[in-house]
Amino acid sequence: MSLKILAVTGRIGSGKNSVEDYLRDKYEYKIINMADVLRQMAKEEGCGLDRQSLQNLRKKYGNTFLAEKTVKIIEWLNDNKIVIGSMRRPEDFLIPKQKFNDNIKLIVIEARKDVRFQRIKKRGREGDPKTIKEFETQEKKDEEIFEFKKIFSYADYVIDNNGTLDDLHKQIDKIMREKKMNIILIGPQGSGKGTQAKMISEKYSIPHISTGDLFRDAIKRGTALGAKAEKYINQGILVPDEIVINLVKERISKHDCKTGFILDGFPRTLSQAKMLDSIVKINCVLNININDSVSIARLSSRRQCRKCGEIYGKEVKPKIEGRCDKCKSELYQRDDDKPEAIKKRLEIYHRQTIPVLKYYKSVVHDINGKQTVEKIFEEIFGILE
Ligand code: AMP
Repeated sequence: MSLKILAVTGRIGSGKNSVEDYLRDKYEYKIINMADVLRQMAKEEGCGLDRQSLQNLRKKYGNTFLAEKTVKIIEWLNDNKIVIGSMRRPEDFLIPKQKFNDNIKLIVIEARKDVRFQRIKKRGREGDPKTIKEFETQEKKDEEIFEFKKIFSYADYVIDNNGTLDDLHKQIDKIMREKKMNIILIGPQGSGKGTQAKMISEKYSIPHISTGDLFRDAIKRGTALGAKAEKYINQGILVPDEIVINLVKERISKHDCKTGFILDGFPRTLSQAKMLDSIVKINCVLNININDSVSIARLSSRRQCRKCGEIYGKEVKPKIEGRCDKCKSELYQRDDDKPEAIKKRLEIYHRQTIPVLKYYKSVVHDINGKQTVEKIFEEIFGILE
């Protein structure tokens, strides 16, 4: 289905205007800005155009009139490429949604508060908050009066706009291609899956979901899930399917997975693959191959940061031995990277994960994992593009 109406929203300074401009200039969308519709109504009513007068006008007519008017304009335009901008309330989206159903998709733009404040300061538009205090007051109002969180919860796509305009454009292009990138990365321990997953995640702005990392994090935080998984992980054996499956189901239902994800360490068994297949279509399985001796050599020299999870090994050594380059915390050897556990994990890998490859054979791409990190990524990039 091709996208028709796009609704765009985000907090102040998140980059809504840049998204609208790009959709207009590159994809020839018409923009219906709800704030402009409101201003037009204010003119017709002969009232002021300042923020307070506009809010009063909204109050006078109730919360749905602006959205209803916007729906009328869209119907009147009878165009199939429309962006609704400047939505402030949940109703602003829910009313067009009721009318246009699947033909309308909501794009939410997120950005960190400090980044947004810097943008606003640079923009210096009349009425923009001048100090961080004013900015916070505005944020509070957006949350409490306009219920931004609620409107954000309807998002079909979430754009993370903390970077450059170019990054933002790439994310929009991806949405416009409507190509979901549901990727599985498979490879024996030490094949460099984690490194490649991070690179893919950055390049395509899709989350890297490592079940091993999720478990380790749960153990570190002392959660019930962590307690259940710990005894299996320390022995280098697989956590029971029902525990992993629930974990993955919950994770991929989150908003940031709407345009895709990279699964690393899942599915590891045929039954996990079948379950995954029943809830989501996988577009691509990247199988990074190395033989067992390379695996063992790489893993036994692998050290991980206790705090941030960064990984070091033969090829990527820390600048100071035993300390993380990034956060200076202590590096340690995971219990399951010790020789006995590695052998067990490789044996399990061959026995249980290879059937997963057979299951997905129509979308599997084999990659030689003995190449450099850059070469492997080049190959993956070629496949994904
Ligand atoms: P990894 O970091 O991916 O090697 O995972 C570390 C450990 O977490 C594994 O040895 C398993 O005990 C557990 N684990 C991670 N993913 C799965 C999975 N898909 N199924 C079962 N256990 C898993």
